[in-house]
Amino acid sequence: MWIDTHCHLDAGEFDDDRAAVVTRARAAGVNQVVIPAVSVQNFDTVRALAHEHGFAYALGIHPLYVMQASQEDLVALDQALTAHRDDPRLVAIGEIGLDFFVKSLDPARQQHFYLEQIKLARRHELPVILHVRRSADQLLGGLRRVGLTTGGIGHAFNGSRQQADAFLALGFKLGFGGTVTFERSLQIRRLAAELPAEALVTETDAPDIPPQWLYKTAQERAAGASMRNEPAELPRIGATLATLRGWTVEEAARITRANAQAALPRLKALGHDHTAASQDDAAVGHGGAAGAL
Ligand SMILES: [Zn+2]
Repeated sequence: MWIDTHCHLDAGEFDDDRAAVVTRARAAGVNQVVIPAVSVQNFDTVRALAHEHGFAYALGIHPLYVMQASQEDLVALDQALTAHRDDPRLVAIGEIGLDFFVKSLDPARQQHFYLEQIKLARRHELPVILHVRRSADQLLGGLRRVGLTTGGIGHAFNGSRQQADAFLALGFKLGFGGTVTFERSLQIRRLAAELPAEALVTETDAPDIPPQWLYKTAQERAAGASMRNEPAELPRIGATLATLRGWTVEEAARITRANAQAALPRLKALGHDHTAASQDDAAVGHGGAAGAL
């Protein structure tokens, strides 16, 4: 049994076959999936999907979406966190963070939304799911400044060992996904192999970050080939992690599952339950997630 700690199940890429994607995930042994929001516009969608499929969700404003977000969106996030505080499937604030790779995103504006959201995490006593892209030190600085003690997950972690250790010291786990399956990902594979066992959680970031076996060349993509990732790929990614660690696949599943439950404690109560949604949660819209999130 695996936990996919990061899957954008609401993305448009899944509109044609979302139910089949979920069926394949469960058949592959992925019995829990965390669906992070990216903007106020998809809060209702991720919540409804989590209830429909027995999964978990997070609410937050993604750094790639801060340019179109407003101050009122932070108020709306606060209100949504209050409204759904007793929803056991609401497990974190996310996906939030900083992206200093994409040059069109104003750094000051990103910092503002990041700091305000980790203050909300402190006030609502929820862990956070962090987008880390050339921003590990600034993310760490914000966590220290706000004094966030609830921890969470550094998703698709790609920093240094020193930065990894700093996140661990603040109570975070680090997310590993498709990138570890590429032999050229030397730094990430070294981290996956050498970090303490309790540091690691698994994720797909589906439909993004395809593992090596789904990778297509630019030429193949131009000819129409898809490299859409999906949560059913998680056990094979986990098997790669097991190889890097010298674990059995069963050990990898058990350890990463316990780590995910430690990072997002509300996952524990969800257990193996996957009862269907209550009727009023059944309406699911289309939340688009453009680009690698
Ligand atoms: Zn994401």
